[in-house]
Formats: sequence, C-alpha cells, structure tokens
Amino acid sequence: MSELKQPPAHPFDDDKLKEECGIFGVVGVADAANFVALGLHALQHRGQEAGGIVAHHPESGFNSARRFGYVRDNFTKQSLMETLPGALSIGHVRYSTAGSKGQTAIRDVQPFFGEFSMGGAAIAHNGNITNADALRRELIERGSIFQSSSDSECIIHLMARSLQRDIPSRVEDALRRVEGAFSVVAMTRTKLIGVRDPLGVRPLVLGKVGDNGWALSSETCALDIIGAEFVREIEPGEMVVITAENGVESHHPFRPAQSRFCIFEHVYFSRPDSIISGQSVYETRRQIGVELARESAVEADLVCPVPDSGTPAAIGFAAESGIPFGLGITRNQYMGRTFIEPTEQIRNMGVRLKLNVNRALIRDKRVVLVDDSVVRGTTSRKIKEMILDAGAKEVHFRIASPPTAWPCFYGVDTPEREKLLAATMSEEQMRDHLGVDSLKFISLDGLYRAVGEAEGRNAACPQYCDACFSGEYPVEPADMLQKGFKMKAAE
Ligand code: SF4
Repeated sequence: MSELKQPPAHPFDDDKLKEECGIFGVVGVADAANFVALGLHALQHRGQEAGGIVAHHPESGFNSARRFGYVRDNFTKQSLMETLPGALSIGHVRYSTAGSKGQTAIRDVQPFFGEFSMGGAAIAHNGNITNADALRRELIERGSIFQSSSDSECIIHLMARSLQRDIPSRVEDALRRVEGAFSVVAMTRTKLIGVRDPLGVRPLVLGKVGDNGWALSSETCALDIIGAEFVREIEPGEMVVITAENGVESHHPFRPAQSRFCIFEHVYFSRPDSIISGQSVYETRRQIGVELARESAVEADLVCPVPDSGTPAAIGFAAESGIPFGLGITRNQYMGRTFIEPTEQIRNMGVRLKLNVNRALIRDKRVVLVDDSVVRGTTSRKIKEMILDAGAKEVHFRIASPPTAWPCFYGVDTPEREKLLAATMSEEQMRDHLGVDSLKFISLDGLYRAVGEAEGRNAACPQYCDACFSGEYPVEPADMLQKGFKMKAAE
C-alpha cells in the first residue's frame, strides 16, 4: 500500500532543538473541534509536520481527521470541520520525536484511537516513552498489532490489555507501565482526560470555557486564543477526568516524586506569551538576559538578538549592560516548509533565506549577538559571517542557555551526542570554531536564578530537568542504554 509521506524539512532549519508536540482538548462546548483547531493553531510552534483532531458526537460517534502541514491550511476548511461534530474533541500537532523521524507517515499522526468493549477512546501524547522499545516488543509478542511506528501507540495497546472496567482506569493502568515523559489528553464518549507524568517533565494546563466548558492545553497561549480562562496547571503525577456535567475530578495515580519540569521550556520551547508556574515566559527570558549580562559583560556598541527566540534575552542583556539594543537581523516570517525545493544552489544560500542583516545598523559596530542556544553551531557560524560581511568590527556571542552537550530523551528532537558542538569542544574551542571574538553561555546556576530559584540549582536534588546541559537524566533512558548510549557516569 502506498503511504502518504511528509516532504523533508529544509536542511538549513536543523540547527535548533525541535519542539516536541502540542496537545489540546475541549469538552462542553458546541463544535468543540473548532476550538481544538484554534488551540492547535496557537500551539503550532510545538510541531509543524502534521496535526490531527478527533471529535465525538452522540449520533455520529467518533470522527477523526489527520493531515500533514499547518493547522491553518487544513483545519480551517469548513468541509473538513463539518465532519468533526460534537461537544468533545482532542487534537495534536506533531514534530516527530520517535517513530519515523523526518519522514512522518500519516499513520504516525495522532490522536490514536482504540475501540474497547466499554466504548472507544482517543489519546494524544506529548513527550517520549523511554521504555517504548521494550513495551512494544512485549506487546507484539502477546499479539498486539501496531498500526504506526510511534512510541505513543503503546499506550492504546496497554489500555487494551488492561482488565479495568472503565477507560479512565485503563489509562491509569497503561501509564503506570510507561517510563519517561508524558503529558496526555484523552477522550471517551463523554469524558476529557488529562494526565502528567510523575516528574511533570512536559507541560499541561487547565482552562475554563464559558459556563460548562473545559479545556486542556500544552500552554496557556492556546487558552487565550479561544477566550478560555486559565485555571491552573495539571500537577506532576495528576490525572483529571472532566465532564461538562460534573466538572473536574482529580486523581493521583502515581507514586509522588520531586517534580522535574523541562527547564528548556522556559528558554525556548514555550511561546513568550505563555505563563509557566505563574511566571511569564517572556519575563523569564528577559531575566536570563539580565543574568547573562551580569555573568559575561563585554564592551560593545550594540546588542542584537538572533530572531525571534533570542529577542527577550537580548532586551534583558541590553537593559542590564547599558549597551543600546537594536534589531540588526530581520527574519523572514514567511519562509514556509514548501517554499522552494532545496537544490544545491538554494542550500548554499542557507540561513540568508531566512535571516537578513540590517547593514546600516551593524556597520562599524562591536556587536553582541544574543541567541537562545547553540546546537550544531552551523547557523551560528553563518550568522557571524553575515554580521562581519555587513561591516561589524567585532562579534560577541552570548547564549541564553548553558552548552547543550547531551541529547534529550523526553520528547525533544536533538542530534546524536557527537553532533552537538558542546559535546566535543570546550567553550574556547567553540569560540574559535565559530570564529567570534568572544563566546559565553549562561551558567546553570544563572539559568536557575532567572527562572526564579534564588539560590540557583540544588545539585543534590535539582528542581528541573536540565539533562541536555548537565547529563543528569531524571529518568533512566532504558531503550537508549540498550542501544549503547553511555550516561555521564559511564564515560
Ligand atoms: S533533556 Fe533538556 S530538553 Fe529534554 S526535557 Fe530535559 S531540559 Fe528539557
């Protein structure tokens, strides 16, 4: 059977960690799928490869649609949305972190659906299951037939094997077998369900829609777009079961653990207009810039963000250092995936297709470039060349995260360890490799201070997941260890 495949991503877009996925669900509003489409549109920064929506209507039952590409190009079509009636709906936007990476097949696009003796259920997952290979092997040996290559499908099969009599209990049962990071939205014919893993690595928030409606979302920015009121975050290890009639029931099915939210959500993944742990993401990023300026001062004439994600940190850096802020680089916002075929000639243009330098502002200046992270370093090198070509006298990189030296196994796409610049080079070597006058990263303690931990990182019991910087993984990556990955202590 021929299978729909996603076109490959642009080759010059691979120098960032890729956001994982976004999930959204609504119960208790007419035409819930329209709300879900809007919510997914607001979460598009978390995954641009594909999206899917499932809705339930008492007469037509469960209906679903899964499409490649942006939400706005698919789920705004009236003809499609009319096929998704009902007052209960969930959805997912995807950037593949497990499964057929980079070559997503339509069968890998969530939500996944299963028909059980007590009725159907759909599930959408953000995160990564670190024991998925072992679970999949076990399930296949016991007769499960997988439809996709996604680790998230394990959850549906574990639910099918559960002996519990209702679907929320089966979700609980299934997730107790799962290791790693998961924020999940699921639905039955009448219930919207939300769950966060015991460490709360990935985000999930609860909102109120009108009088009887409720929403679950990866981020608060997606509540704003549908006019929902932010109620609270789902707690690490909490499961909520929501109906329009009875509101929110809360359960705590997992053993309590110290929460380890992904600190990179503050730095890069979440939208700056979202709120995390009561803090504005924008304000946290600005504060990272302040800490960075305190730690790594430099004499310069201009602070310039690498757009768009470096902007709040650059504003903070400029305010703290007293160096003027200027938009020395402009990003073309309309550089879509399918813009042009990446021929050799286009490939050589690389980052220039996406970013352009404001020469009049840059010429003869000592420029501080503030970026959120350095992954492979390929884009940073090109940006430095563009700034020097425009007549800058000096280029100083200031990075709003510590060196990314370890891969993420909790739902973020990172290159293999050897391809991470910071895994193979010291800070001085990276500076020379990038060819800049100076290069400084914020320290881990500085980052912790910026996210509100006045005493910095508690080394004995870290308050966040920071494994991609520290190499200290809060959940053992079982599948990767099987494949030969070496933890820090084993190096
Ligand atoms: S390893 Fe890094 S990106 Fe992954 S969850 Fe932890 S902090 Fe976030």
